[in-house]
Amino acid sequence: MIATLIATLVEEDHAEDDGVLAPDDRLTCHVHGRWIHQCVSSPVHINPVTRHRWCRGCDSPLGVVVDELTGAVAMRCPRCGRGGSAATARLIAACRASIEARRAA
Ligand SMILES: [Zn+2]
Ligand SMILES: [Zn+2]
Repeated sequence: MIATLIATLVEEDHAEDDGVLAPDDRLTCHVHGRWIHQCVSSPVHINPVTRHRWCRGCDSPLGVVVDELTGAVAMRCPRCGRGGSAATARLIAACRASIEARRAA
């Protein structure tokens, strides 16, 4: 399982360097060396500029709930209960895909 994670990390690093993989579509995180759903709750994954995990209306980071068992992933602003953006939607999709990839490993 660890071997699969490392292989996927290396593969995604190369694909990103080659310009054929967008950072948003990665299933692994090169900062934390983990599947994206395992570290997405870290503050490193908050970005007010791109609006990854960021509610512009409230100037506030979104909270994260990841359920590996059911594959459910939710990101919500603790103040207004919304806070969605295109970047966050892609991040949620990547988390769901990384849960699947880890399961398949
Ligand atoms: Zn990370
Ligand atoms: Zn909000």
